[in-house]
Amino acid sequence: MPHTSPRIYLCPPHMSGYEQQYVQEAFASNWLAPLGPNVDAFEAEFCAAVGSRYGLATTSGTAALHLALRLLDVGTGDEVLVSTFTFCASVNPILYQGGIPTFIDSEAVSWNMDPNLLEDTLRRRARAGRKPKAVVLVHLFGQSADLDPIVALCQQYGVPLVEDAAEAVGATYKGKAPGTFGTLGVFSFNGNKIITTTGGGMLVSDDAVLMAQARKLATQAREDAPHYEHTEVGYNYRMSNVLAGIGRGQLRVLAERVAAHRQNFAFYQEALRHLPGIRFMPEAPWGCHSRWLTCLTIDPTQFGADREAVRLALEADNIEARPVWKPMHMQPVYAGYEAVGGGVSAGVFAQGLCLPSGSGLTVADLGRVTTSFYATAL
Ligand SMILES: *Cc1c(COP(=O)(O)O)cnc(C)c1O
Repeated sequence: MPHTSPRIYLCPPHMSGYEQQYVQEAFASNWLAPLGPNVDAFEAEFCAAVGSRYGLATTSGTAALHLALRLLDVGTGDEVLVSTFTFCASVNPILYQGGIPTFIDSEAVSWNMDPNLLEDTLRRRARAGRKPKAVVLVHLFGQSADLDPIVALCQQYGVPLVEDAAEAVGATYKGKAPGTFGTLGVFSFNGNKIITTTGGGMLVSDDAVLMAQARKLATQAREDAPHYEHTEVGYNYRMSNVLAGIGRGQLRVLAERVAAHRQNFAFYQEALRHLPGIRFMPEAPWGCHSRWLTCLTIDPTQFGADREAVRLALEADNIEARPVWKPMHMQPVYAGYEAVGGGVSAGVFAQGLCLPSGSGLTVADLGRVTTSFYATAL
């Protein structure tokens, strides 16, 4: 039967109307090639928004993560401790550098890296005289991990911290933006993130020396000379001036976007929380969860249908929902690497579903989702 209702997507781009003005300026001034005034302004405006000293706009969040690992000199055979509950882009750059990921499980209160497991691992490594080269900490689905103990552990053991805040633009930890606590932080503006440049990312840090090196590496590692002089291998990772214009427009409505995502969550929670076996992703007490995606778990023994049955029922009503990320220690490509714990994230994966969460959803759209969801419970 053909669908009569338009498709509801998981988290489509949501333009504010401000973007075109900045894109227009880029066209009018013919600043279309990479770099230009929008890039400089977007870097400065984003840094002001998150409270970081230096920012480098990149072609993607993945590129920013790759730069971060390169800046920390992660190389062949170097171990990097990384959250297992994440998207593959948190881990792939470790492999680009020839490094060895060790996966750290989540804690139930935030679904993010468990500081106790990190501590155990760092202590065991110290005893064995094997210091990891870096920790990559992921802030998942719009919620900050518990940064205070993790930052303290990284300092105690002398391991630099890279924060993957790709999904956490607009979130806070004790009033401050996750992504600004570590040596380096990474954000993403991919198409389905809370604000988007269609594709893009940002590397931030308070370290002037690291960021100058990041800027150079991202620009093909060109030396300061009139001709093209190279003494090391770089990348073409800078954001274009047109896309930075989109980012500037998006940044102006970030607070509104967070409010809209949190409203979606509140709607779903109110409508669904009384159903047996339904539990929403917790909001940890330390900050504001942007609710980039509304995530919940479905216990099939109580609910009467499992996560996949619900997903398919929504799909039949032309509604896109998605399982939560499959943990990296369960991914075939990462079989054979060590995992510390793994049961918490595996348990969330077995039952976890992400509901449509775009900031442009209407109350009627949200009603369609909850009606469809309710039908699976009967
Ligand atoms: C989206 C995402 C990335 C990568 O960002 P891109 O801009 O898509 O390259 C990295 N880590 C996490 C957790 C993400 O969700």
